[in-house]
Amino acid sequence: MTEAQVPLSETKRALEIRDLRVVFQTYAGVVNAIDGIDLTVYKHELLGLVGESGCGKSVTALSIAGLLPENAYVQSGEILLDGDDLLHRSKEELRLARLTDIALVFQDPMTYLNPVISVGNQLTDAFNENMKVYKNELVDFRLSQIEADLKGTAGNRVELQKERERLVLLRENPNSKLSRGEGKRLSRLRAIEYLKLVQLPEPERIMKSYPFELSGGMRQRAMIAMALIRRPKVLLADEITTALDVTIQAQILKLVQELRDKIDSAIIVITHDLGVVAQVCDRVAVMYAGNIVELATVDEMFSNPMHPYTKGLFAAIPKLHGGSKGDLESIKGSVPDLIYPPSGCRFHPRCPLAFERCPKVKPPPVEVSPGHKVWCLLYVTSGQSKTEYHDGEEHVDAR
Ligand code: SF4
Repeated sequence: MTEAQVPLSETKRALEIRDLRVVFQTYAGVVNAIDGIDLTVYKHELLGLVGESGCGKSVTALSIAGLLPENAYVQSGEILLDGDDLLHRSKEELRLARLTDIALVFQDPMTYLNPVISVGNQLTDAFNENMKVYKNELVDFRLSQIEADLKGTAGNRVELQKERERLVLLRENPNSKLSRGEGKRLSRLRAIEYLKLVQLPEPERIMKSYPFELSGGMRQRAMIAMALIRRPKVLLADEITTALDVTIQAQILKLVQELRDKIDSAIIVITHDLGVVAQVCDRVAVMYAGNIVELATVDEMFSNPMHPYTKGLFAAIPKLHGGSKGDLESIKGSVPDLIYPPSGCRFHPRCPLAFERCPKVKPPPVEVSPGHKVWCLLYVTSGQSKTEYHDGEEHVDAR
């Protein structure tokens, strides 16, 4: 059985979010941006987080990375990375986690790349600034390159063996340090390897280039290399193809999918585009107004969407052969104001199937088939549930 065929329940969990609640303090009032979400992401998995603007996708990503803006805070919940709660880490521990465990790639690389620093220096900066943290990783990486070269025909064997002996000594002595020159050399070699991994041609030339000298697609590849070079446990890719033209989008998505097989990370793809999800993801979580409303494998979600909101999203996708009138379907109403979120099911004011209990009861997750969960009262059967009351609202625990 290959890794991809192993059932998710038996695969190692990379990240677990439990009952996460995030609020923003604004002049207009308190925005309830994330309303108690639960999500598990597995190693090697490509998980899509999909929903319209303002549904909480990016706030979820910023919470994981510890990069919420000043006026936001986590009200309650846990974000477990390898079983360790990120929310209980100090600022310094979180900074280290971002250096080693969690990486983000954003929509517009030009905004995040420094225009006056070469791509090579931006790729190696994290290493050069934190050589103590990366010493063993850089040495191990170079040792693996040397082993590969010694097995093949590349390089001078005597020189390679001498370098290997020197690096093994460095690796074995926990008190040893990499000299500045050695650290720079190793991080440069690693940067070139990662530029090759993201399929950028002439990596040595790209190292010397400035962001404005690269095309949009090349810049996005460089950003992905920058995120992956630290071999994060979790990679958050936030709308990474939105600013690119269609051809480059397809290339970047193909790259992300190929990288999944080459790196050890779990990848969370944040997007408003169901097409992106269909192309690259293994599973997808649909978010609405700060809640996850449906979670399933991509095949299951696309063949059998069950939540009325998910059904609405699929109905709104333009079809090649439209209906007789050719009109696009849309979800009626607008996204709710999260300062005053709707009671019970937050989708009830727009839901065509809402019934009397929907404004009163917060829907629990119901597993409608293995791995397919829906947060909708239509699927809660009376024999399966227990109702509790908090803050004047009913909460149903699915059994
Ligand atoms: Fe619609 Fe009610 Fe289901 Fe919410 S719980 S999605 S309002 S049917």
